[in-house]
This record gives sequence, C-alpha cells and structure tokens, in this order.
Amino acid sequence: MSTHTETATHAHEQSMFEAVLARLDEAAKLMNLSPEVALVLRNCSKQVKVNLPVMMDNGKIQVFDGYRTVHSTHLGPSKGGIRYAMDVNADEVMALAAWMSFKCAVANLPYGGAKGGIKLDPRAHSIGELERITRAYAVSMKDVFGVNKDIPAPDMGTSGREMAWILDEFNKNTGEDSPGVITGKPVAVGGSLGRDAATGRGVMVNTLCALKKMGINPAGATAVVQGFGNVGSHAARLLAERGIKVVGIGDHSASFYNEGGIDIPAAIDFSVKNNRNLKGFKGAREIPNAELLTSKCDILVPAALQNVITEENAPNIQAKLIVEGANGPTVPEADEIIREKRIVCVPDILANAGGVTVSYFEWVQNKAGYYWTEDEVNARHDQKMEQAFEAVWYHKEQYNTSMRLAAYITALLKLEQGVKLKGAY
Ligand code: NAD
Repeated sequence: MSTHTETATHAHEQSMFEAVLARLDEAAKLMNLSPEVALVLRNCSKQVKVNLPVMMDNGKIQVFDGYRTVHSTHLGPSKGGIRYAMDVNADEVMALAAWMSFKCAVANLPYGGAKGGIKLDPRAHSIGELERITRAYAVSMKDVFGVNKDIPAPDMGTSGREMAWILDEFNKNTGEDSPGVITGKPVAVGGSLGRDAATGRGVMVNTLCALKKMGINPAGATAVVQGFGNVGSHAARLLAERGIKVVGIGDHSASFYNEGGIDIPAAIDFSVKNNRNLKGFKGAREIPNAELLTSKCDILVPAALQNVITEENAPNIQAKLIVEGANGPTVPEADEIIREKRIVCVPDILANAGGVTVSYFEWVQNKAGYYWTEDEVNARHDQKMEQAFEAVWYHKEQYNTSMRLAAYITALLKLEQGVKLKGAY
C-alpha cells in the first residue's frame, strides 16, 4: 500500500457520515428542501451490529465485527453491498448506506439504501475461513435480509463467491429458494450476465457522456485508473475498448505509467495470474503510488478507496475530468479545489451506479424467473446510465452548481417525494 495513500487516509479520519451530511445539507439549502425531509434523511433507519465467533484453521476461535445499516426504505427495499476490509466501522457503513439511497434515487431504481461489512483483511484468511465467517454473517443477518426487504451485493473485498455462500446460508435458514435475496451472484446460481463488469461499464458510459458535454473526442484522450479490482479493471478495459488511451494504472501493490498506452487485457491477465497484484507488471514503467493520481492524463478514475483525493494532492491533479469509480474518493475539502480548477467531476453516486443498476436487473430477472441476454442487460444499463447522467447534468445547469451537488439534488427530489408520501407515525 502506498505511504501517500495511507497518509491521505489517516489525515481524513473524521466521520465519513458527517461528510455525507455536509453535502446533503449543502444540496438541501440550494434546492430549499423541507427541514422535516432533511431531518429524516439525516438519520439511518436501522443499524445492526453483530459479533461473529468463528473457528480459524489453526483450531482457535476469533471474533469478527459485522455490520448492516439501512439508511432509507422510502423508495423501495434497501439495497447495498457488503464490504470486507480492516477499516470497516459503524460510521463508514452509515455513510455508505446513505450513499446507496442517493445512488439508487439518482439511477431511478425502486430501492432504498443499505450497506454492510465485516472488519477483516480478506487476504489474511484461507478460503475455508472466509466461507465460515461469511456464513456466520449470513445467519446473523437472516432477519435483516429479504428479497423484498434488504438485498445485499458485493463491495470491496467480496465477490460472487461470497454472494453464493450468503444465498445458500439464507436459503438453508429460511427453507425457501429465493435467489433475489442477494445480487452479484455467479450466473450459475441466478446471477445476471453483465453484472460483473457493470460498475466499470457505468464508469465508461459516464466518462463518454461527460466527454461529449466537454467537447472532448474520446479517441486520443488519455486516462489513469487507480484500483485494479472489479471496478478499476473493467473500467480500464472498457475505456480502452472505446479508444481511450489508458496511460496509468495502479493497485495496492504498485502503480504504472506508459505515455504510449498500457495493454489493459495484458495487465488484467498479469494481475489475475499474480493473485490480483500488479506488482511485477512489465508493460509500463513503475511509478510511486503517490504519483498516480497527479500524473498527466485527461481522465482520472479513482476506483480503489475512499479519501484519496485530498486538499494536499488536488492542486496537482492534471486531469480535466474525474469519474469516481470508488465510493467517496474525494474529501469535501478537495471539492472546492476541483471546482476552482474547473475540473468536471462525475460523482460516485452517479459514476458507479452501474453496479446497482445491473443488480436491480438481476433482482427483476430472479423475480420473473426469466433471464436476459448480456446484450439486453448492457443495452438497458447504458440507457439507464445515460438518463441518470442527463438528469444530473440538467440539475447542474439549473442550479449552477457542481455535478456532485446536482447529483444530490437529483436524488433528494425523488427521496423528498417518498418521505412526504409515506409520511411519519
Ligand atoms: P476490489 O476489492 O475488487 O478492488 C479494490 C482495488 O483497490 C484492488 O485493485 C486493490 O488492490 C486496490 N487498492 C486497495 N488499496 C489500495 C491503495 N492503497 N492504493 C491503490 N489501490 C488500492 O473492490 P471493487 O469492488 O473494485 O471496489 C472499489 C471501489 O468501488 C470501492 O470504493 C467500492 O465501494 C466501489 N464500488 C464497487 C462496486 C462493485 O460493484 N464492486 C459498485 C459501486 C462502488
């Protein structure tokens, strides 16, 4: 892990949920949101914390902290991923849950927002340990999750493999087969074609939409992508397929730059064979991780962690466009710098909404028991993302504000209706 990123992360250990509220308040003021609606949305509706005792391979028991937070169910059952990372905590899960409410509203999906996680380092456990921890979590959340209640999905550190374990454990405990209780599943157990690449695909569609508004031709434009996991690797591949030259990539192990363009399929192949590490890749020059975000490019895609674009490095960003693949990569203090530098920033709640959009399609297919082709999924995804981008751009112009605040406004206009129509006790 880069020392720079560590420093950036530590410098911003203030509440992530407070950062969400700060942006919510700013958008609420701009659009004159009713204080009662704002009050409801400033709070998470349900928070569950569990302690999971699990037998490790060495015969010793370890106890893991597990979380699930539902922020809102005003627009439908709550939806949101499950994260495995050492810095998972109650505050972070609340922030991510609230973002899911806004993200689903921006993408015009009939969902509320939730998020969950377990505090653990997935690289430090065997597959057997991960399976037992995941199944313990699923059992402890069996009354929280439900196909019309709360529907989890993958996030950082989890993938289809964990979703299949959770589905299996949920089904065993309820005695029913309900594939729609979780999304991001492998296709063989009810997953959707196109889901794996969907978040990266959404990043690509948003990038193309933004470039068009900015009058920049994608052919010949250059991009740097931080993070080479699910979001980053698919985003880099799809950007390259659209003629954008990906000149920089990086993950927790190393960063690389090649002004001539990086062969992304070769980098993906290398990373997969190297246990998801880019360290040792020979197709570009290795650079310090700290330099990746500020290296020369037109488009910057942070697709790894939160809090990586800070007031320290934002002044040195050379990109004209930032497309936030990760959740919360930009700290609020850096927003102002980005605005002053006239960098267009497509915010996380729009830029990475492709994943939840195809999760929604997966849920719809599970409910119908009828499965679509990958082309159908991709076509519907692209249409939904383009519509969401246009709605946010419209509010950006109407309120003369940043895309981030415009995305919040787009979401709050929908959520406001849900809160008002459903009312209170
Ligand atoms: P992942 O676990 O598949 O990949 C994470 C990547 O980040 C890895 O390549 C890892 O090496 C890299 N990374 C970790 N620490 C780093 C560091 N210090 N410096 C540089 N790179 C580092 O996770 P993912 O699913 O791709 O998620 C990435 C981000 O996208 C997260 O913020 C997540 O919340 C967000 N997101 C994911 C999805 C999804 O569908 N997977 C959807 C929406 C948002």
